[in-house]
Amino acid sequence: MKIAINGAGIAGPCLAWWLAGHGHEPVLIEKAPAPRSGGYIIDFWGLGYDIAERMGLIPAILERGYQVGEVRFVDSQGRANGGFATDVFTRMTDGRFTSLRRSDLAGVLLDAANDRAETLFGDSVAALEDDGGRVGVTFEHAAPREFDLVVGCDGLHSKVRELAFGPEKRFEADLGYRVAAFEVEGYRPRDELVYVSYTRPGRQISRFSMRDDCTLFLFVFRTDVSPGPFPETDEGQKAVLREVFAGAGWETEAILDLLDGADLYFDRVSQIRMDHWTKGRVALAGDAAACVSLLAGEGTGLAIAEAYVLAGEFARASSDHEAAFSAYEERLMPFLQSKQKSARRFASSFAPKSELGISIRNLATKLARVPLFADWLIGGDLRDDIRLPDYANR
Ligand SMILES: Cc1cc2nc3c(=O)[nH]c(=O)nc-3n(C[C@H](O)[C@H](O)[C@H](O)COP(=O)(O)OP(=O)(O)OC[C@H]3O[C@@H](n4cnc5c(N)ncnc54)[C@H](O)[C@@H]3O)c2cc1C
Repeated sequence: MKIAINGAGIAGPCLAWWLAGHGHEPVLIEKAPAPRSGGYIIDFWGLGYDIAERMGLIPAILERGYQVGEVRFVDSQGRANGGFATDVFTRMTDGRFTSLRRSDLAGVLLDAANDRAETLFGDSVAALEDDGGRVGVTFEHAAPREFDLVVGCDGLHSKVRELAFGPEKRFEADLGYRVAAFEVEGYRPRDELVYVSYTRPGRQISRFSMRDDCTLFLFVFRTDVSPGPFPETDEGQKAVLREVFAGAGWETEAILDLLDGADLYFDRVSQIRMDHWTKGRVALAGDAAACVSLLAGEGTGLAIAEAYVLAGEFARASSDHEAAFSAYEERLMPFLQSKQKSARRFASSFAPKSELGISIRNLATKLARVPLFADWLIGGDLRDDIRLPDYANR
């Protein structure tokens, strides 16, 4: 079958790889003109790690990864006032945990999919016509084509979801935070393999030193700190960051000075909640279907798991897409809903609202130096309570 996959981030190339392995002809469509670089750093473990291992990709992922040793909360003078050693992650995942740029993980998956799928960069699905037998796809640039199925792997602000299911606002739950990230070269100080984070009420700014003298900065703030409308332009987003973090202390002024000319990522922290991820001959996977948000720290692994299960159920149902689509939803929807719930529980520890909240959060992280407490505090959210079939053996 010919299957159009809109979006070549995490879910898209993974889906293409597995579908091609089951004998289908996937075509990836990516709106960026070339594979993306930079961006933010993600933690990678669990189901996604297991599936990437089945794809033979762990050596390439670890080569790009960082084994972060410590999460350190600091005060305005840069002195540690909370945090924990990350050996809890290593312990709870049997060492199957790494951190890397989202774009590096996407690059590894895309390299793997390249041999198996055609990729159209700098384009997007623009319109869909599902007549029950085939889906006619109009692109922004390429000539129209017909496909047996279309899958939206185009992230939180999915175009395919909008075309097939309706406007984003119907499915998006804004969790009340904004997130921004950018990276620069040559920033000082550096703290190798330490994730350094500074919090003021409702605002948090973090930095992570990477290879090639790069430093990544991540900002998170609550919308009640800056209740205005969502800034749509790059200029507007930088202005909001300057306003929200002005005079916050620590290294904030030096970091804000680097915003000019920075390639900034800025977005709402949202979840996508839907009753169905499939409709007719169209399906969604990854953030497009069930974004858990950065608060889950596992969106990439879950996107990979969704792609793997969708392709696997399709193979199992001998390409009967209706049977495959319902098996896909049945197997994963309750699990994704529980991951979304646990991400929401974690939200209050991200940029706590008050000084008291910050102190309590810091104290809890200090206690996390005690292994048993750490396993109790963090370990539960690290477990993926689901077993996926071994579709590869069928
Ligand atoms: C700051 C931050 C920190 C995070 N931390 C973690 C973490 O620690 N661990 C973790 O596992 N996850 C983390 N996540 C979540 C994770 O990044 C996502 O869940 C994951 O990337 C989802 O993969 P995806 O393929 O569904 O979407 P994406 O990775 O967003 O990929 C979507 C792709 O579709 C393309 N696209 C978009 N629109 C169109 C269009 N109209 N046409 C064609 N292509 C299009 C995009 O360019 C992109 O390449 C974090 C997210 C953020 C924002």
